[in-house]
Amino acid sequence: MRIEQYEFLTRLPLLLNSSLKQSVVISRSLKLAREELQAEAATVFLSDSEKNELIFWATGEDIDKSLAGQRIPAGQGIVGWVIENQKIEIVNDVATDPRFFSNMDKKSGFTTKNMVCVPLTVAGTRKIGAIQVLNKTNGNFNSDDSEFVERLAAQVALAIENARLFESLQLQNQKLEKLDRRKGEMISVITHEFRTPFSLIQTSADILKSGMLKDENSRKQIYDTLIEGTSRLTRLLSEMKNLGLTSSSSLQLKKQRIAIPELFDELKETYSAAAAGRNMYLKFDCPCGNVTIMGDRVNLLVAIGNLIANAIRFTRDQGQVTVSCRQLSNKFLISVADTGIGIPAAEQPMIFEKFYEVRDHLNHNSGTFEFNSGGLGLGLATVKAVIEAHGSSVTLVSEEGKGSEFSFTLESC
Ligand code: ADP
Repeated sequence: MRIEQYEFLTRLPLLLNSSLKQSVVISRSLKLAREELQAEAATVFLSDSEKNELIFWATGEDIDKSLAGQRIPAGQGIVGWVIENQKIEIVNDVATDPRFFSNMDKKSGFTTKNMVCVPLTVAGTRKIGAIQVLNKTNGNFNSDDSEFVERLAAQVALAIENARLFESLQLQNQKLEKLDRRKGEMISVITHEFRTPFSLIQTSADILKSGMLKDENSRKQIYDTLIEGTSRLTRLLSEMKNLGLTSSSSLQLKKQRIAIPELFDELKETYSAAAAGRNMYLKFDCPCGNVTIMGDRVNLLVAIGNLIANAIRFTRDQGQVTVSCRQLSNKFLISVADTGIGIPAAEQPMIFEKFYEVRDHLNHNSGTFEFNSGGLGLGLATVKAVIEAHGSSVTLVSEEGKGSEFSFTLESC
């Protein structure tokens, strides 16, 4: 290696570490490698071990920038070989090398003639990808060049790793900020929901105490309001109790044999009056007969009950809610479908989070089963946790204005 190249490598950490953005670090390294070796192009491939692919980054006047981000299967081409075997390769006539993968050249219009390719490794063993320098403009690549790229690669791998760690730290921070916002929202939801019953009770008690109500009828009305206030408080407290059910890892299931028709009968008894009060048709459908599943009866009643309650709340009067059970080989598919307002596609991934409500919770109607009446935003978080604790997951299909269907499978027994 030339003395200028050693000098260059000692200055390199300053240049590379002046940015913590992975893309900037990579393009900077490639530009430096290309200029230092007087090559036409330089590329970095990073391994995506989850997908078993290599992601392409490039720089160089002649390389089509649209190649950036393209993926090839891991192990393909000279670069794949270098990563797998953790060996440095100098190839001065790629056209005769059977490992050469010409697809990238075809896509970009660039013609690779020769290359030096070096693996990128972190902490001595973790393979993160490879760096290639392509088409030396004055002659063939030699061992001095590969030594230079090898030393450069060690620093580039470190800089990429630093940038990756920083980016993942930033992501974590964003998540924490979101959680903090959610905590604020949660306090605002709880305060709002508790304020209504408290003020109902307070006002009724004040009126009764004042003794200004002389006739029995007016007093009866106030007693009814008092009772409404306390029953709303009871509902809120029982929802708060569900908070303990919103984490599948801390749920202790008591599994037993459950006959689906019996489970449906219990749910029918609990929710029929609410549906009838809204002139809705609540249908239970179990054509498979007296089938049994293994599960925690109490928790499943809470989970399916939450889905039915939501279906009633978010469907207009005269609508329909169908609770059904269908056999899928050795499993049963339980679903709760409604003809209600539906859930916007953008909101669907979030609604299972604790304290999440689609529309502003202040716009929710009061009451337990009134149209568009919301709770604390714990219902679906509970459903998700209970179903996941049963080793399954909840699927949602919903279309705004048409309705929603929540479903999950349970093992038969
Ligand atoms: P809450 O107890 O406040 O209703 P959930 O966690 O049960 O909270 O539901 C979260 C939000 O998802 C609800 O506020 C509502 O906006 C929406 N949602 C849930 N189920 C349905 C449904 N069947 N149809 C339309 N929207 C629904």
